[in-house]
Formats: sequence, structure tokens, C-alpha cells
Amino acid sequence: MSKENKQMEKIISLCKQRGFIYPGSEIYGGLANSWDYGPLGVELKNNIKQLWWQYFVRSRDDMAGIDAALIMNPKVWEASGHVSNFNDPLVECKKCHERFRADHLEKNECPSCGGEFTESKQFNMMFRTHLGPVGNDENIVYLRPETAQAMFVDFKNVLQTSRQKPPFGIAQIGKAFRNEITPGNFIFRTREFEQMEIEYFIPVPLDDKDWQKHFDNWLKQMHDWIAFVGIDTKKIHELDVPKDELAHYSKKTIDLEFDFPFGKDELYGLAYRTDFDLRNHEKYSGQNTKYRDQQTNEEYWPHVIEPTFGVDRTLLAVLCSAYREEDDRIVLKLDPKVAPYKAAVFPLMRNKLELVEKARKIYDNLRKNYMIAWDDRGNVGKRYYSQDQIGTPMCITVDFDSLEDNTVTIRDRDTMKQERVKIDELHCHLERQIIG
Ligand code: ATP
Repeated sequence: MSKENKQMEKIISLCKQRGFIYPGSEIYGGLANSWDYGPLGVELKNNIKQLWWQYFVRSRDDMAGIDAALIMNPKVWEASGHVSNFNDPLVECKKCHERFRADHLEKNECPSCGGEFTESKQFNMMFRTHLGPVGNDENIVYLRPETAQAMFVDFKNVLQTSRQKPPFGIAQIGKAFRNEITPGNFIFRTREFEQMEIEYFIPVPLDDKDWQKHFDNWLKQMHDWIAFVGIDTKKIHELDVPKDELAHYSKKTIDLEFDFPFGKDELYGLAYRTDFDLRNHEKYSGQNTKYRDQQTNEEYWPHVIEPTFGVDRTLLAVLCSAYREEDDRIVLKLDPKVAPYKAAVFPLMRNKLELVEKARKIYDNLRKNYMIAWDDRGNVGKRYYSQDQIGTPMCITVDFDSLEDNTVTIRDRDTMKQERVKIDELHCHLERQIIG
């Protein structure tokens, strides 16, 4: 096994052992490429989503959020082009019958057995189901393959209720479903995943420079976010997607790729969708989807710049950036902002009641504001080892001196240095650590 694959195996195994991510439906033998986030995984994932929302929505006055139904009227997917265009080229090996995405293959022979392929067929990746009890063609609906369309469909409602005007954005975080031909690489490519998306509406560009300035600005903001959330920026690469590979709605796309242990692949995308979506929704719905400028009375379809972020891929890139093996420990050097636990509290010894009571008080007090771990098993060394593995930025130990002078020892995850801090100052200390 290559060094890179070994690292991926180690991360997957750590995730399972420590409660970040488990294989889905495990007691039934699993379900191919489905994963469940455990107690620490859900904290890490929620932290990422909350930070993103704070960063791109709440802290700005040109953004509005929505949370739309994920089953939408099927006409939405006709208008968006997904019914006719959301296809991947599928080939099947004539010998072993394994199926592959033709555009992901390096050679024209089966990587598993060397067999010959069938002609490539277009396979639509939308998940279909039926609305209501009768399973006929009239009530086919789709699980949304992207969150984006709700931002277009709700565009007029948001305009009327939020007093925004272009340039402004609508943001949403939510699940999306794609019947991927070849899911894999842990949580990198799954059939059910989460997206954080923004549709940023701009006035009709007068020339190319007009939309390019918004596009470049968003590209910069995406890079800034990547650094902010603790992804290794040295492993990020821009891919200007060639014209013949652009999605059906896009005039320009830049993918931000990350060096995952299994290779360089897409983390995020930034696309210029022009007025493709709003224009088509007007055509298919018969409703006016234009913005009316109150001052000039002019009506137009704003153009759209779309920065899109996969939640699960963010989490994987964060984990890969944080994972380290050092002399005698494994440590997740997570940014304290995303770390599941902000601190752990230990009584030096579990059988000394005074120590346990004092530590418990500190734990209960800090827990009102932060996720805090408690550990009184084994010795302090083992507890440090265990907290390092899950990325807890600091460990607080209550010892006999604490009973005398109301101070505790704080041990830093990254430097492993210890310092004495007054119990009264723990809150400030934690706050400083998290904000950085
Ligand atoms: P890919 O080329 O990897 O199939 P895409 O270009 O089709 O991805 P987009 O349609 O741009 O992806 O989706 C936006 C974002 O959603 C991606 O940048 C990625 O972070 C995430 N994403 C897309 N498909 C999946 C998937 N199957 N599993 C997990 N995340 C995904």
C-alpha cells in the first residue's frame, strides 16, 4: 500500500475508533459508501457549518439565508437542465461487469481486470422517488442534486422580504443527493452529502470585466475561508475548468483542488452561471423572475456568481490538514475554532474527592459555554495522548496546589508546554485560544 493510501487508512481508522465517522448501517453489513457522523464528527461538522454561516451570511449585510425543502416541484429540474443534462458517461466492463465513469478513466481498459468496455452511455445522476402512495410516472419527484436551485426559485420571495438589491447573495446549507457511478475515497464522494452554497446576484454585466471583478473577489474570499477554517493552503490548487468540460450552466468555472492523500481533487467550485437559471425559471414557471430597480423601474435578470462548498469535503480536508504523527503520539492539530472539544478537564487523581469536586466545578462551569471533555481514567499522560488524538487544544489539570492557590495546569496540545493559570481566568484564556 502506498504511503498516501496508508495515511487515508489511518485517518479512517482514527475516525471510527474515536467517534468521528462510522461506516453506515454497519450491523447490517454496511451500505456501500455511506457514512455516519458520530459524537465528535457531528461536533466538527456543526462547527464548520456554523463558522461558514457566520463568515458568509451573518457577518455581512449583502447576504440572506434560506433553508428550503429538499424535494422540489419536478419542473424545477427541467428548468435547471438537470433532467436532460445532469449526466455522467457510464461504461461497463464486458468481462467483470464493473461500472466506471468514463471521464475518470486514464486508459480504455478495465482497471480491475483489463477487460474491454461497452460503448459509453449517459447516466442521469438524480435520485428519483414518488410523491405519495401511488408509484406512477405522474408523481415522480427528485431528491435535489444541488441546493442551488432553491435560491433561484425563492429569489423573488427573498427580494420582497429582505430589502436586498443586487449585488447581494442568497445562501443555504443542506443535503444533496447524486446517484454517483463511482462513489469512494471515504467521505470524498458519496451519494448523499451536504453543500454550503451561495448564489450571488449581480447587475447585468456591461462587459466581461464587470462579472470578472465579482468572480475574482469571490475567489479571494474562498481562499481566505480555506485558511480561516484550518485547511493547509499549500495543498490548494486552482483549476481553470476547460471550456469543453464546463457544466451546462457555466460560462466559467474555477475548481479549488486539494491534495488529498489519494490525489489532487476538487474541494470547492466557483462558477459564473450568467442569468441561465432565473431566465429558465421564468420560461418554465410562467412567473416573472426578474429584479425591478425601484429607482429606474428597469427590470432585468441579475447574473449569478456561485461559490459552492462541500461540507463533507471541507471536513475531510480539515482532518487531512490536521493529522500528524509525532514521536510517540498521534495529534490532530485542528484549529481551535473547529475542534470538537475546546478543552478537557482532569482531576489529577480520581480517588481524591477534593480534587474530583474542584475539577467537576470547573468542568460544569466551562460547559455552559463550550464543549468540554472530562477524563479521570488512567494517568495524566494517557489522557493527554487521548485528547491529542481528537484535537482538543488544551488540557486543564486540577492538582493539590489547586486546592491551595486556585490555579490549574494548562497543557497546550501543539507545543506540549504547561503553564499555571488562575481558575478565574480560564474563561478568558479559552476565549483567546478559540479566537486566536
Ligand atoms: P465532481 O467533479 O467531484 O463530481 P462537481 O464538479 O460535480 O464534483 P459541483 O456540482 O460543483 O461538484 O458540487 C459542488 C460541491 O459539492 C463540490 O465542490 C463538492 O465539494 C461537493 N460535492 C459534489 N459532489 C459530491 C459528492 N458526490 N460527495 C461529496 N461532496 C460532493
